[in-house]
Amino acid sequence: MGIQLFKASFDVEACLAQVRECLEKGWTGMGFKTVEFEEAWKRYTGHKYAYYVNSNTAGLYMAVNTLKEKFGWEDGDEVISTPLTFISTNHAIVKSNLKAVFADVDDTLCLDPKSVEEHITDKTRAVIFVGFGGNTGSLAEVVKICKTHELKLILDAAHMSGTRYRDGSVPGTNGDADITVYSFQAVKNLPTGDSGMICTDDEELDQIFRKKAWLGINKDTYSRTVNKEGTYKWKYDVEYVGDKYNGNAIMAGIALAQLPLLDRDNAYRRTLAQWYTEVFAQYPNQIGLVKIPDDCVSSRHLFQIMVKDRDGLMMYLNSNEVYPGVHYVVNTDYRMYDYGRGTCPRAEFVSDHIISLPMHMGVSYEDVQYITGLVVKYVMEIKKGESYK
Ligand SMILES: *Cc1c(COP(=O)(O)O)cnc(C)c1O
Repeated sequence: MGIQLFKASFDVEACLAQVRECLEKGWTGMGFKTVEFEEAWKRYTGHKYAYYVNSNTAGLYMAVNTLKEKFGWEDGDEVISTPLTFISTNHAIVKSNLKAVFADVDDTLCLDPKSVEEHITDKTRAVIFVGFGGNTGSLAEVVKICKTHELKLILDAAHMSGTRYRDGSVPGTNGDADITVYSFQAVKNLPTGDSGMICTDDEELDQIFRKKAWLGINKDTYSRTVNKEGTYKWKYDVEYVGDKYNGNAIMAGIALAQLPLLDRDNAYRRTLAQWYTEVFAQYPNQIGLVKIPDDCVSSRHLFQIMVKDRDGLMMYLNSNEVYPGVHYVVNTDYRMYDYGRGTCPRAEFVSDHIISLPMHMGVSYEDVQYITGLVVKYVMEIKKGESYK
């Protein structure tokens, strides 16, 4: 089978116990476990409000369109974003009839604050910051820029479950981001099947998310059934043309079973990253590493290196049964976003040279020695020590 990039690991018995509880209770939809997981996630992160949704993609879309409505942004107004992300981030902007304006990344692979500042115009309304690979990058500086220029800040925390600052605080809390959105998709650090969490300190936003994610209905089935005396309460009003974005109790049960593993798993990911780094740091000209600021305790969703001939290395590793990935192809290479082509040279360079190495609970010390051995052999012997820069 070889060594895969990602492989989710589950506490199977704990997950089954949670699912069994849902099945025995006869409640698999929104409510019950979804509420329990929201509470658990708020305790774990420190976010004031948290609403469980069926994906980060759905959460990002609600984040953008809700801010647009609340603050009266016009069609065509601008949101500054990174081109080095999964396309959900940028689709969220375009789906709300806003324009994604691409700023470049720095050596953390997250948005470069200088480039963000250069791209601010009188139409800029918000910034979406992606905590790439679990990295906080220069988030603190971007927070300051947003406050100075009165821009809203959305944190795409799809990779950041479990990321903390050294002082223990969680990125996006304490008023840093207006909205933070996590992913609990199948290969993220807290895997379910598909789901996510949209978090904010603003009670009004939280209330709107709860309605919009439930077709715009202003009372959910669970509170109608459970929180009222007597018969099933069937009366409700519809305040928005909403979507069906709510999470369900089965997924939330799995999330509840997995949450106690998150810190332990992330610690192991950091150990893997350290094993990789110990070898690769000996070849600074041939193997580029991603900078992680000292005050960031990264969830280490990804471990990435940059090499001269990425595609060649990819094939070489595949032929030795190691199956890495690429995060990400710069979004300005895609037809939908090609108006940004050539505007983010650093991100374009990264896109051509980056490779994500296997990073999951099933990767052993021996696996890391095997993989690093192959990479070093490729860049030093086969490619004769060519610099990647
Ligand atoms: C995975 C991912 C998403 C989308 O998450 P889903 O829960 O699968 O919708 C968004 N942004 C980034 C950076 C991601 O990696």
